[in-house]
Amino acid sequence: MTMHAHREDHPSTMMGVNHATSGAAAWIAATGAMPYLTSGAYPLDPVGVIAGSFVCAGAALLPDADHHSATIARSVPILGRLTAGAVNSVSGGHRHGAHSLIAAAIVGVSAWGLTLVTLTTERLGTFSLGTVIGAAALMCFALKARDMVESWLTAWVLGALFGVLLVTLAPSSIAWFPLAVVVGFVAHLAGDLLTTGGLPGLLWPIRPRPPRLLRRAPIISSIWRSNGFVALPVLGDTGSVREIAFGTVLGLYVLVGSVHETLLWFGVDLFRFISWPSFI
Ligand SMILES: [Zn+2]
Repeated sequence: MTMHAHREDHPSTMMGVNHATSGAAAWIAATGAMPYLTSGAYPLDPVGVIAGSFVCAGAALLPDADHHSATIARSVPILGRLTAGAVNSVSGGHRHGAHSLIAAAIVGVSAWGLTLVTLTTERLGTFSLGTVIGAAALMCFALKARDMVESWLTAWVLGALFGVLLVTLAPSSIAWFPLAVVVGFVAHLAGDLLTTGGLPGLLWPIRPRPPRLLRRAPIISSIWRSNGFVALPVLGDTGSVREIAFGTVLGLYVLVGSVHETLLWFGVDLFRFISWPSFI
């Protein structure tokens, strides 16, 4: 029934699962070490690639925090809905303010701010408590969005465990955590842009409308709508065959990337092994 209400308000956006997958895929593409399949833009060690892909997947669900029925709004009973409601009214409704470049910048700066919140104890020394909390929340959303766990309590417990492991095993995460959050957030915006619903407010709070002359022009009118929304709807409507196919390809990419990095972690280079016969 929430699905129905969602459809009435907003004709089409990308499915939550695909948002999470696109975030993970974007991080692997930016930081991974696969020949041809990754960009080498921000190379990281295997721990950074894998841990960051989870951070990114969680962050790719954040823009929909402005929607009452979104995964994120159900994260904490009552409080989650209240937070989503507040974000909704401040940002001018679903897919307005929260789907803008300003929001991406605010979220990035907040994530950076979190990394600066440190705690010093005698036994553990100084560590970034803010990164633990931020990573815990994002991991929790990612697990839930991908239906990997049943209850929110389990999701939070695993999230907290992830946060602790992240700062312990990958101390460099304090440096890349804000970047991973921004990459995930922007991946979400890119995903919505590709569906029929499009983006209402990339430049929010301004939403330029096309001049009258262009409002009925073929192609242009479906990219730059008369109401000011923009879309490149190559994936069609929510849950379309094209969107599911796209999500499946991204999922396979994430799978191959994760397996490759895990093996690298243990000193095995999958791609070197595969291309080995050509050296003979
Ligand atoms: Zn969205």
